[in-house]
Amino acid sequence: MATVIDGKAVAQTIRSEIAEEVRALSQKYGKVPGLAVVIVGNRKDSQSYVGMKRKACAELGIKSFDIDLPEQVSESDLIKQVHQLNVNPDVHGILVQLPLPKHINEEKVLSEISLGKDVDGFHPLNIGKLAMKDRDPLFLPCTPKACIELLSRSGVSIKGKKAVVVGRSNIVGLPASLLLLKADATVTIVHSRTTQPESIIREADIVIAAAGQPMMIKGSWIKPGAAVIDVGTNAVDDPTKKSGYRLVGDVDFEEASKVAGWITPVPGGVGPMTVTMLLHNTLEGAKRCFEKNH
Ligand code: NAD
Repeated sequence: MATVIDGKAVAQTIRSEIAEEVRALSQKYGKVPGLAVVIVGNRKDSQSYVGMKRKACAELGIKSFDIDLPEQVSESDLIKQVHQLNVNPDVHGILVQLPLPKHINEEKVLSEISLGKDVDGFHPLNIGKLAMKDRDPLFLPCTPKACIELLSRSGVSIKGKKAVVVGRSNIVGLPASLLLLKADATVTIVHSRTTQPESIIREADIVIAAAGQPMMIKGSWIKPGAAVIDVGTNAVDDPTKKSGYRLVGDVDFEEASKVAGWITPVPGGVGPMTVTMLLHNTLEGAKRCFEKNH
């Protein structure tokens, strides 16, 4: 039976470490890290993510700046807001909650965020540095960073291992594969056009699943003893639940946990870690800023 990696518990440990560092910064510099969260419109899912982020900031002593803009805000007014946050010395991280309304060009807005405050790690220059040997981006994208952190805190070594990433999106699959490569794994990416993914996945010592396909990866696809990190978060109908649905990963947890060495559950695996990595990035941004200006 696999060791089930408890993402909630790991996230809690890291949050305590962050809170400790925030206290130390406050004593040393008389300042705390600040995270600005910009939200446009009132999509329910976005509001609830943003609410979670703001609550987590408050718990850790990170100052949060809430910018709530109406659905009809113009692209240029949104960019003006980003520029104001770029020059605000109390803000060390800027997050623009996606998706943005259709009349706004997301890429244009994201590329206006100052590189040193790009705590989501989506700025093309940060991603570019992630892809280059011997270069380090200022920030790592939160979900891929969460995957690596879960592996390392569970004692899974990456160096020299065969790793397979399922999915190649800009926000999860691709950066996760680049991070594994930086950690000296031999990396293969499986995507929607890959034929016979099971034979490739069966070779892997480490699997990161981020395809958004409910329970696509079966127990028989997993190499015995492999470490399986399931990023997939898929709602499937479940009439026994009050909500009418439940969340499942991209991996058939019940089958795979009988074969794998380590596995993350959904929910309670990667999910709670992602927001924690955002807070960690904010802390790193603030530390760089305080040290530079000291
Ligand atoms: P996406 O739709 O942008 O990308 C999915 C990727 O999977 C694509 O690259 C596609 O080629 C690949 N894919 C699709 N079907 C496939 C198949 N049958 N076989 C192999 N590859 C296939 O999705 P995303 O934004 O990268 O998110 C992926 C999953 O991770 C989703 O379930 C999402 O909800 C979840 N997610 C979770 C967190 C978290 O914090 N836990 C964060 C981000 C995304």
